[in-house]
Amino acid sequence: MVGLDTSAEMLDILRRRLQTLPAAVQERVRLCQGDATSCVLEEKFDLMILPAFSISLFHNRQQRLQLLQWVSSHLRDGGTFAFDFIHYSADNCQALDGQVNAAEFPAPDGRVASSYGARFSTDRQSVTWNFYTQLIRPDGERRHYLSASQLACIHADEMAELLTAAGLEVTARQRAALPMGNTTAERCFWRCTRRERAAYSLWHPYLPMNHMEETVTVLVRGEGSRVWDREGKEYIDASGGLWSTQCGQGRTEIIDAVAEQMRRLSYGTLFAGRSNEPAMELARTLVELAPAPLSRVYLTGSGSESVELAIKLSRLYFWLQGQPERHRVLFLDQSYHGSFFGSMGVTALFDRKERFAPLLPGLDAVPAPHPAHVPPGMSFDEYALQCAAELERRIESGTVAAFLMEPVLGSAGVVVLPAVYLARVQQICRQHGVLLVLDEVATGFGRTGRWFAAEHQGLRPDLMLLSKGINSGYLPLGAVLFSAEIARVLLDNQSGIGHGSSHNGNPACCAAALAAIGVIRREGLVARAAETGQYFRERLQELHQYPHVAAVRGLGLMLGLELAEGEGSHRRPVSPARLGGIYLAARNRGVLTYPFPSGLSFFPALTISRDEIDVIMDVLHRSLAETSGGWQHATA
Ligand code: PLP
Repeated sequence: MVGLDTSAEMLDILRRRLQTLPAAVQERVRLCQGDATSCVLEEKFDLMILPAFSISLFHNRQQRLQLLQWVSSHLRDGGTFAFDFIHYSADNCQALDGQVNAAEFPAPDGRVASSYGARFSTDRQSVTWNFYTQLIRPDGERRHYLSASQLACIHADEMAELLTAAGLEVTARQRAALPMGNTTAERCFWRCTRRERAAYSLWHPYLPMNHMEETVTVLVRGEGSRVWDREGKEYIDASGGLWSTQCGQGRTEIIDAVAEQMRRLSYGTLFAGRSNEPAMELARTLVELAPAPLSRVYLTGSGSESVELAIKLSRLYFWLQGQPERHRVLFLDQSYHGSFFGSMGVTALFDRKERFAPLLPGLDAVPAPHPAHVPPGMSFDEYALQCAAELERRIESGTVAAFLMEPVLGSAGVVVLPAVYLARVQQICRQHGVLLVLDEVATGFGRTGRWFAAEHQGLRPDLMLLSKGINSGYLPLGAVLFSAEIARVLLDNQSGIGHGSSHNGNPACCAAALAAIGVIRREGLVARAAETGQYFRERLQELHQYPHVAAVRGLGLMLGLELAEGEGSHRRPVSPARLGGIYLAARNRGVLTYPFPSGLSFFPALTISRDEIDVIMDVLHRSLAETSGGWQHATA
């Protein structure tokens, strides 16, 4: 049992009282001096009690919250926290204000007679209590005490809200009438438990939340490729957030454009026949940048939404032409396209989709040319052509509306699909009238050293899906670009697109995109990505000196480091524990990367400098060297 007080005198009184108790009790009690809003005790407790009215001694909400957070952080799971406070109502405030009352009650060595009065602040937020107290001994001797204390008037609603914010949950409330002169206040006794992990109410995507609170990196500031956490630690963000920050953080051109747009028109919808200038200009700009035959643009709120719409639009295109049987969408068995029902459905790298069954029907995986699956004795190109042949076989059923793919598999480990495969796939789709849908959510906007990855092989997709780098990740935005032919079918049938969301075409998001595209153009960031990407890639090759580096892959500033364990025929993908160890070793040295199932990926801002890449390399060298110890021995 621990007792805490800020006052040395009070602790002295308690210590003297403690000495009157049996030795067995004394042994279990520790008294310490400290401020309960800041001191850290080593242990956690099953029971914590705040003495009468202590919370009311703190005069602002922040301090009261701090006190309760302190309690919460020291309470064992399932433990109890008990305290009391006075609940003042408008009526009893009125009745008490300025009154002098008397009270008398017995004390261990005599009796106590008090005169007391209350004066409320004009805003009724606090009350000053004045006490004149006499301790009257049986022999008639009197001791006189004068005290004044200012207490906060805390409302029960505020108390409940503070407890919630501190991660505590009220389990019992009791009240007792507290007579005061000619009125009665209410003394509230509350009991609480710690709501497990509730102090961290934010839920994150995908990962289980069990240890998130202890390990989370909370970023508070960013500038270029650098970010800072709330402890002031600096990192190079080698993953560009989630592969999005093409122009780097904190660009005044983009921030000012958004602020200016918000001042002019802060919200705009494309529903009900309305439009806005940034949305119209962005659509024109995207068509100008994108490969032919893309000529129309639907603005979405994310990559996942773009994929969702691509599935719908592909089906709609054939349905309007009287071919409803053509509704199947094929995707690669190493794909990532998002987490909504449609986009999850076409994402192969999604753990246990059956948790969400029944799933969207009509979505089928086809083999992806992934280097990990190339059979012995076959080249990557040969294997890729074999995958293309399988695609054609599936398409021949006559029920396929679209084939969806990432031109560079991002989440599967930054795999650049072979040129022969891409050319063949385009040919197959054209031959069978199947729509070719390129997901350029990760590869767009200069990431691969071209505006879009399609340009490397001269691909002419029927639909192209964008997000992330579209506005350098400054605000949520995505886009679906589609061909004049698809537009024609909609127009001929006087058909709408059957899709819409309140933020589609949001003017501030579009203004951010126009400004970000302006920065990419003015600063030549596409060519720079190709050049810096080449440098980064060459430097990553150095890491082959470590036994667990299996491959370096990528295009432009989209790079992947494949890691493996074991040797020879025992070679296998790195274990999640080891990968996590390497990721954390780099993070602790100030470099944020992004893991894929068997390695680390690098998608930095296109503005990253060679010096910053050198720092990343230094950290990777040290992190890999540190985690290589016993690698072969342990895993062979
Ligand atoms: N498509 C690809 C290729 C992606 O990499 C991602 C996200 O990482 C998505 C789609 C989903 O985009 P969003 O996270 O914006 O929904």
